[in-house]
Amino acid sequence: MRAAVFHEFGGPEVLRIESVETPKPGPGEVLIEVRNSALNHLDVWVRRGLPIETTMPHIGGSDIAGVVRELGPGVDGWEPGARVVIDPSISCGHCEWCRRGEPNLCDHYAIIGEHLQGGLAEYAVVPAANLFRIPDSIDFATAAAAPLAFLTAWRGIRTRGRLRPGEAVLVTGGSGGVASAAIQIAKHIGAEVHAVTTTDHLERVRALGADHVYDRATSDYSRELWQRTNKRGVDLVFDSVGEAAWKQNTRCLAKLGRIVIYGATTGPRVELDLRHVFWKQLEVIGTTMATPEEFREVMGLVFSGKLKPVVDVVLPLEQIREAHERIEAGRQFGKVVIEVSR
Ligand code: ZN
Repeated sequence: MRAAVFHEFGGPEVLRIESVETPKPGPGEVLIEVRNSALNHLDVWVRRGLPIETTMPHIGGSDIAGVVRELGPGVDGWEPGARVVIDPSISCGHCEWCRRGEPNLCDHYAIIGEHLQGGLAEYAVVPAANLFRIPDSIDFATAAAAPLAFLTAWRGIRTRGRLRPGEAVLVTGGSGGVASAAIQIAKHIGAEVHAVTTTDHLERVRALGADHVYDRATSDYSRELWQRTNKRGVDLVFDSVGEAAWKQNTRCLAKLGRIVIYGATTGPRVELDLRHVFWKQLEVIGTTMATPEEFREVMGLVFSGKLKPVVDVVLPLEQIREAHERIEAGRQFGKVVIEVSR
């Protein structure tokens, strides 16, 4: 089968289109004919070389939509021809964290496309438990654009951030896949949404439902937000910018404010004035990925049309390098989706 692979870590130039052996589904697994696979920042981190074990040559792509072609031994409830999208999270089911109902903190946690071979190939083998049926009204590119971004935003905003109707939230990096999902989820919950983005994307972020949009190039958004909220601030900040945004983000927090961190793109080291933490009774909260239940909840909202994945561009598998470069340069608005087959 045709696949986008890399044999060593490095820049986009390590990506190649090659012919590799088509995988076989084992017990409890299915073979998927991949139609579309969306890229995430995760794909860039994996290609550059994370301190994790990946099999080489590696096939990336955590967001997969396609058609069931073959069932491994012991799989029922599915049939060849079913249109499906894949939950990229795999957990062991019996460690302390799995038993506590926190499978995305599993001691043996793995992500399809990171620890395991992903969807940037004509076929992928995945556990049958990770399949979710795509309704006829949704095309494969839209379905592939949803999983990782929406499940991360859903757990971060709703479960970890505990956002409630009537609260105010600040979402940074408004043009990214997770942020564009977070803005929609926050509006769906009934919150007032403040969003920071770049000059080029102000209108599009507004169109996603953000009530107040800040241009990070021309304004100190923390000052502007402070004025607009009558020196109150917001109840929740949702961020993956990290170091470069930390000072402004923490200035935006209201009393009892929560800041949920799902990444640290510009760097991981920050300063924190503990007097603000206890005096304003603040919370710093981490989040990553989501549970199978959260995946199903948020995909249900996507497939019923209440939340809409934003597709930046759909590129053929042959343009995998350009796709990586587009994400690394931060030029995209929403998801860069790869078309593997029609
Ligand atoms: Zn486990």
